[in-house]
Amino acid sequence: MKVKKMEAGLYCTNCKEEVDHEITYINSDMKTIKCLQCGRTKELKVDLKKSFTGKYMSALQLNRNG
Ligand SMILES: [Zn+2]
Repeated sequence: MKVKKMEAGLYCTNCKEEVDHEITYINSDMKTIKCLQCGRTKELKVDLKKSFTGKYMSALQLNRNG
């Protein structure tokens, strides 16, 4: 699992101004956005299980049937 972090100036609804945010990416999907001023973290719903296991399971089922 690849985790990447970067910073960006975004509008924070808590600070009510544009401040630096830390954005965490997991496998190039945006996962969390944290405000570096107030510490408020917004988690984004990324369905990792579905994108990974879904493909894996269907591959397994194909092998079983074949
Ligand atoms: Zn904030």
